[in-house]
Amino acid sequence: MNFATTLTMVLFHLGAVAALFMFNWKAFATAVFLYWFCTGLGISMGFHRLLTHRSYKVPRPLEYLFAICGALTLEGGPISWVAVHRIHHQNSDLPGDPHSPRDGAWWAHVGWLLFGETNHNNTRAMSKYAPDLARQPFYVWLNNYHWVPMIGLGGLLFAVGGLPMLLWGIAVRVVVGLHATWLVNSATHMWGRRRFATRDDSRNNWWVALLTFGEGWHNNHHAHPTSARHGLAWYEFDPTWITIRLLRRLGVARAVQAARVNTPLPGREAPAAPTLEAPEREAVLSA
Ligand SMILES: [Zn+2]
Ligand SMILES: [Zn+2]
Repeated sequence: MNFATTLTMVLFHLGAVAALFMFNWKAFATAVFLYWFCTGLGISMGFHRLLTHRSYKVPRPLEYLFAICGALTLEGGPISWVAVHRIHHQNSDLPGDPHSPRDGAWWAHVGWLLFGETNHNNTRAMSKYAPDLARQPFYVWLNNYHWVPMIGLGGLLFAVGGLPMLLWGIAVRVVVGLHATWLVNSATHMWGRRRFATRDDSRNNWWVALLTFGEGWHNNHHAHPTSARHGLAWYEFDPTWITIRLLRRLGVARAVQAARVNTPLPGREAPAAPTLEAPEREAVLSA
């Protein structure tokens, strides 16, 4: 068991439960705002669609701001997050996938973090899968010290609104964000519709999409990983795509890649053609 990770998770969950006994609207509103700021801008816009898949570009300072937002979610630093997610796309639902429900729904949700290989602090090992980030000292620093922004924000919240503000703005907001993100790894590889016959089990799941600013349109995403747009049909609500489109209109986002609902599934995301088993191959050859 990964002792430090497990202990941290338990403490944050206890903090989230404690927060329920000290509710106030100001603390609640702060938590909602920070949920959008950290999970929406940091994970969906930043770590995922920008840093992992490079589906659009923004000026470097804004990219770094998104990365700091992402570090505020307790999902590790940018190099580790990007590396794990690139490995997930490489081996989706096959041996080597860090979190596939084929190894159990609970495993895909959180078990892999508590009991799996722990590499999130091993910047060197993870850099192999994110050489583009590892070249930038800022990302190496943030990967090693991904918990520093959280300490700073926690101190600020405590100074402004005491313990209720700290528990709502950090504990509740982080725990909800973690489970929402983990649902993308568990639920959207089990439950929902498949528009594209991808080589994995990914699904489009509307309620996960609502919790994650559009990340629940996961079958669309596995079909077209470099598309900044995940909700492809008009009824597939994708707040992150709306934000990226807004940034493009303002001239801030460039090189935005977007698939359409009728864009065909690229060959590399389709299942490999069935290969003949050895005895069958021999039969074919000797015929
Ligand atoms: Zn996936
Ligand atoms: Zn992805």
